[in-house]
Amino acid sequence: MTAVNLKTLLNKANKYNYAVAGLVVITWEDAIAFTEAADEIGIPIILQAGPSCRSFTPIPILGKMFRHLAEQTKTPICCHLDHGFSYRECKEGIDNGFTSVMFDGSRMPLKKNISISSKISTIAHKFNISVEGEIGEVGYFKGKNSKITNISEAEEYAVKSKVDAMAISVGNSHLQTSKIAKIDYNKILEIQTITNLPLVLHGSSGISNNMRSKIARMTNVAKFNIGTELRIVACKALRKSYNNNIKNFDKISIIKPSIKELKKETIKVIKNIGPKNVKK
Ligand SMILES: [Zn+2]
Repeated sequence: MTAVNLKTLLNKANKYNYAVAGLVVITWEDAIAFTEAADEIGIPIILQAGPSCRSFTPIPILGKMFRHLAEQTKTPICCHLDHGFSYRECKEGIDNGFTSVMFDGSRMPLKKNISISSKISTIAHKFNISVEGEIGEVGYFKGKNSKITNISEAEEYAVKSKVDAMAISVGNSHLQTSKIAKIDYNKILEIQTITNLPLVLHGSSGISNNMRSKIARMTNVAKFNIGTELRIVACKALRKSYNNNIKNFDKISIIKPSIKELKKETIKVIKNIGPKNVKK
């Protein structure tokens, strides 16, 4: 199957009351685990390359990597650049095989956020590539504070930015290592009265499985970004594999068991928010 854009995946998810996992890729082995998980259960996913992934592997390689995996599967895969902080960065994604880019102008004044989002959307849409924007600010656990999404700003952003999906801040926070986020559910309902755009929650590792499932089925949130909880699983498995034979210097045989573990956990994550009637 060829790669699909974000708009196609998320509009379908909203129509049938489920959500798609935006899975944070750090290295190739994560991307393999996520893609195999999606293919095994027939539920689409979004492979995403965020800033830390891009600081290690160049965008042109990541674009080809994601597209290659998408072409091998029977399940739709979206190839997404997460948290592009400038037009230039998003344009590099657009030029290198990504089917979706996120422009994060959440820390900018509203007008500037709108104007850059709109400029990126205009160019992206020419190539059938989707754009995700952010309004309000999703902060970092034990780091930068969040700024809860303001309804009138969200309305203006949704109308003028031309984006295909909108990330919101409703109590979610990046890098939470336990499920302690207090999500303002009513705020989500309020936001969806002013826009029909699919909504996105970043930092979803901090949200309980029950809450994620409820939000996926009852609201217009169609994408949950999930990184931290799966990174913990992958690194734990890697440590175990390494310690099993500390004399082993074959890197691939050390890494391989962690792919299996990550795949197993990923299946649980995507099933929990995914469509109820899947082939397996
Ligand atoms: Zn994020």
